[in-house]
Amino acid sequence: MRAGERVVVVGAGVTGLTTAFVLAEAGASVHLIAEQVPGVTSLAAGAMWGPYLVEPKDKVDQWGQRSLEIFRKLAEDPSTGVRLTSGIEASRTAEAPPDWATTLPGFRPCELAELPAGFSAGYRFTVPLIDMPTYLDYLLRRLDAAGGTVERRRLASLVDAGPAAVIINCTGFGAKDLLPDPDLRPIRGQHVVVTNPGLTEFFSEDTGLSPDLLCFFPHGDTVVLGGTAIDGEGDVTADDKAAANILARCAEVEPRLAEARVLEHRIGARPNRATVRVEAERQEDGTVVVHNYGHGGAGVTLSWGCADEAQRLVGER
Ligand SMILES: Cc1cc2nc3c(=O)[nH]c(=O)nc-3n(C[C@H](O)[C@H](O)[C@H](O)COP(=O)(O)OP(=O)(O)OC[C@H]3O[C@@H](n4cnc5c(N)ncnc54)[C@H](O)[C@@H]3O)c2cc1C
Repeated sequence: MRAGERVVVVGAGVTGLTTAFVLAEAGASVHLIAEQVPGVTSLAAGAMWGPYLVEPKDKVDQWGQRSLEIFRKLAEDPSTGVRLTSGIEASRTAEAPPDWATTLPGFRPCELAELPAGFSAGYRFTVPLIDMPTYLDYLLRRLDAAGGTVERRRLASLVDAGPAAVIINCTGFGAKDLLPDPDLRPIRGQHVVVTNPGLTEFFSEDTGLSPDLLCFFPHGDTVVLGGTAIDGEGDVTADDKAAANILARCAEVEPRLAEARVLEHRIGARPNRATVRVEAERQEDGTVVVHNYGHGGAGVTLSWGCADEAQRLVGER
């Protein structure tokens, strides 16, 4: 990393903001360009640390562990929006626990009596929950404090981001048209945000590959209820029927949610790809582009690990 070198980061979702901050703190002169500040898909996340709809496993494990270390530290300061929270992941079909959960603090199988009606297995563990509006705002403040600048602008091509020694492409699903990258596929997700009727623990059902998810994540005064995973759909307008179904599924497991007031609907397009793309590519004019996109349903979980990898690639060019 050459001190003071101009680096342009494109994208202000969790990937772009984390990467921009890591580079600015390492001494680069970082300018961030994005159409949405912060990115809508990142705002829509639940968000719980844990890999979902993302490959390749070995890299995902490594990037996820790095992020977990940092989220644990961030949880010491409530103003970050990160909290270590205990809760249950359960299944109606007696599934084995997800391997990523077994090493988390407090991991243990649940007694049947601890589970909601209809569930046959479950596991309790403590994990970082991230309140995304608060957390993205925190990242923006840290980027500003590290000397980074932010510009709202839609780019028709990555060339328009220059001049810069390095351009970092953190455009999420936007990379599909911007590059273009035909391998990117949207998986639409919807959350309903409600007032918190007193929940302090999360709940998540292992729903396998179903498009109908069931989870709730308390964030102080609010609870984020999920969700959906509609393969191939990138439209981010609210679907009232999907929202009503989410509320009904969650209230069946936690009856206190039935009376909670709906505050907001959050919808995003998970940027899915066969594998996450973190790699460097030299353009014809000599500019190096470092790609960092395609994080599927785990962009928050992988954000710090992938930002470190992008920084390494910038340093190695
Ligand atoms: C409902 C839902 C729940 C989720 N839950 C979780 C969870 O619990 N845990 C987890 O880890 N992950 C979760 N995810 C996945 C996570 O939200 C994504 O993987 C992550 O947000 C991707 O972040 P990103 O920064 O790469 O993309 P985005 O947040 O989409 O940001 C892309 C940025 O690029 C900009 N951009 C794109 N194209 C252009 C262009 N042409 N010109 C200028 N700017 C451009 C956009 O404006 C935006 O600022 C969830 C997603 C959804 C939808």
